[in-house]
Amino acid sequence: MAMLINQKYELFPTDEQKEILDRWLQHCRQTYNSALLDKERKYKQNREQYNRYDMQRQQTLDKKKYPFLKEVPSQPLQEVFVRLKKSFDNFFRKDAKYPKQKKYRDYTSMTFPQFGFNKKGNRMAMSFSEKNKLYHTKLGEIDILLHRPIEGTIKQLIIKRQGTRWYAIFSVERQALPKDIDINNAIGIDVGINKYAVLSNGLEYGNPRFLRKKEMQLKKAQRKLSKRKKRSANYVKQVHQVRQLHEKVANQRKDFLHKLSYNLAKYYSVIAVENLNIRNMVRNRKLSKSISDAGWGMFRNMLAYKCEKHGGLLIKVEPEFTSQDCSCCGNRVKKSLSVRTHICTKCGTVLDRDHNASLNILQKAKEELKIQ
Ligand SMILES: [Zn+2]
Repeated sequence: MAMLINQKYELFPTDEQKEILDRWLQHCRQTYNSALLDKERKYKQNREQYNRYDMQRQQTLDKKKYPFLKEVPSQPLQEVFVRLKKSFDNFFRKDAKYPKQKKYRDYTSMTFPQFGFNKKGNRMAMSFSEKNKLYHTKLGEIDILLHRPIEGTIKQLIIKRQGTRWYAIFSVERQALPKDIDINNAIGIDVGINKYAVLSNGLEYGNPRFLRKKEMQLKKAQRKLSKRKKRSANYVKQVHQVRQLHEKVANQRKDFLHKLSYNLAKYYSVIAVENLNIRNMVRNRKLSKSISDAGWGMFRNMLAYKCEKHGGLLIKVEPEFTSQDCSCCGNRVKKSLSVRTHICTKCGTVLDRDHNASLNILQKAKEELKIQ
């Protein structure tokens, strides 16, 4: 059974390379925005469809008119339309809001769907150089910190800007070797805001409150720092304190997630989680603090490699309706985020909202296993 796993590494581009990467991102973003506008215009004018291939055709024309577009490698530029399609798919499935024009800070990554060598053995535009650095024909070599080996076949590469840092995220396909997978020893996990994780057997794991407490301290320390006179002795002292608190928060979070994922991976043979788009969720301001705090992405990654290490299986299921459908009879019970209890009007099942979701997640995973 093939699994797709993301592995993330920090990049250290030179200032000049950073400038180029940033400019490419800008062009990708503009391409996204203008394709969205075109699509809307076509639809308004005469209900005309305007799909990925129409967009690509338009791009070919644009490139002739605006030569600066030729600076951006064509692959990530074309992949922009795949993203736009996904945004609309999500919207029509009622999983996301209507696609919006992207601002600078919303558009932070570009995808290179081909990496390394092609089937004929020719080097693609993006690959590793002989010195194990990332290499692009238009950028040259970029330093990369390979803190752990890339395991499996690289399917694509995403270059991502996060604050002032840059990262390379490899999507890697691996042949997991599940020898003694016990389908009966399976668990579904719903990660949430009120409780960190709820399992399909009813077990609950609380949110690490100590993190919230430490974060309050960190905020206070940062506020204090902003009042200090720069370069004074007190300023330097405060910088030190802020840095220490920062580290502590990060370490505690990691620690908590390591323990939780370790215990789960050790105990269960099959673990099912939702395949959530965390980036979209973090955009919701109210939830954002606790979600990014909670480190769901990190948790999922830890689960992935710990499951593999223990010979288990992590299955990511599509999140549609997991919290809406009744885990007992399948009846769809619509509810907003604030409704914490699932009450089925058809079969009378009453369950904690997250518990109901985790049961659905498990069910979906089992269905997937039977197919493969
Ligand atoms: Zn029901």
